[in-house]
Amino acid sequence: MSDATRLKETDVVIVGLGWTGAIMARELTEAGLDVVALERGPFRDTASDFAPGFIADELRYAVRQELFLRPAQETLTFRNHLGQTALPIRAWGSFLPGNGLGGAGVHWNGQTWRFLPSDFRLRSHLTQRYGAGFLPAGTTIQDWPVDYAELEPFYDRFEYLCGISGQAGNIAGRRQPGGNPFEGPRARDFPLPPLQMTAAPARFAAAAASLGHAPFPCPAANASAAYTNPLGVVMGPCSYCGFCERFGCGNYAKASPQTTLLPVLVRQPRFTARTGCDVLQINHDGTRDRGDLCRCRRQALGTADRDGAALRLYPSQRAAAAALGHRPAV
Ligand SMILES: Cc1cc2nc3c(=O)[nH]c(=O)nc-3n(C[C@H](O)[C@H](O)[C@H](O)COP(=O)(O)OP(=O)(O)OC[C@H]3O[C@@H](n4cnc5c(N)ncnc54)[C@H](O)[C@@H]3O)c2cc1C
Repeated sequence: MSDATRLKETDVVIVGLGWTGAIMARELTEAGLDVVALERGPFRDTASDFAPGFIADELRYAVRQELFLRPAQETLTFRNHLGQTALPIRAWGSFLPGNGLGGAGVHWNGQTWRFLPSDFRLRSHLTQRYGAGFLPAGTTIQDWPVDYAELEPFYDRFEYLCGISGQAGNIAGRRQPGGNPFEGPRARDFPLPPLQMTAAPARFAAAAASLGHAPFPCPAANASAAYTNPLGVVMGPCSYCGFCERFGCGNYAKASPQTTLLPVLVRQPRFTARTGCDVLQINHDGTRDRGDLCRCRRQALGTADRDGAALRLYPSQRAAAAALGHRPAV
């Protein structure tokens, strides 16, 4: 660690720069705080890293999994039950952890569902609907401390930030034909109309409708038309190439931190992003420690659940593993 640089103290350090980190950074810098975001993976941008000429390379991205956390960088182990010895995961299956600017928001699909109002009060909902004895004793199902109405303005903000394409099912309590008949009231329509239905979903929708169901297009963070978001960032229309999951979007059409927020954030003098910086340990007492090279008054975890839990629960093990792994430490 002798060649490491100690950074100037800042107001907030954000660990991980995916959707969560980028949104927090935007809110905190707008509130007047200085923010440093530390991201373990590389810098990635649309023009340099997801250009249409090569981003549909299935060998590179789907098979060799270039955008995800590399086992050589950090190896996760897995076991099916407590009696097994956990073994290293060498190739990802359905669980594809992000790594690098934008996190999993780069290679996600972009289906953007809102929770239903009943999801926020699931215990009450199930009890009212199926009776007091319906839930097994000791179940952990709870009502949330917030409800749909309280979160609605934030869903709305996110949808307008990302240029979500969709068909509203309920605007201010009035049912809308062709939309999700179960959704909670939204203050206004989606910013963009739904994506066109290709052959398979069109046939599925026709079959479902013929059986009396109410099919509707899935809300998608894949822009159905060119769009300028409230921050002035311009998105391009989706080309229906189909390379969403596991791939970055070369058309600026799939919402990601890169296509919605980061172009504004990186111009903010209060914001600094540092890539290639794996946070190995968080010190809580303010005293200097081996990994305490980036000092701040507050930390915020923008890491996905597993990484955040690892940082909180196993800080010294991570630091020890890193010492063996020749990785940059912050
Ligand atoms: C293949 C795939 C498809 C998905 N499709 C959908 C979908 O259609 N709809 C939907 O709603 N959701 C979808 N998701 C889920 C959604 O993408 C994620 O919930 C979301 O992107 C998480 O954002 P995040 O910022 O919280 O975490 P992440 O995107 O995981 O970002 C965390 C960042 O922290 C960094 N990091 C972690 N640990 C450290 C550390 N110690 N030091 C420094 N940096 C660190 C990581 O490198 C990463 O960049 C999908 C996810 C995947 C993987």
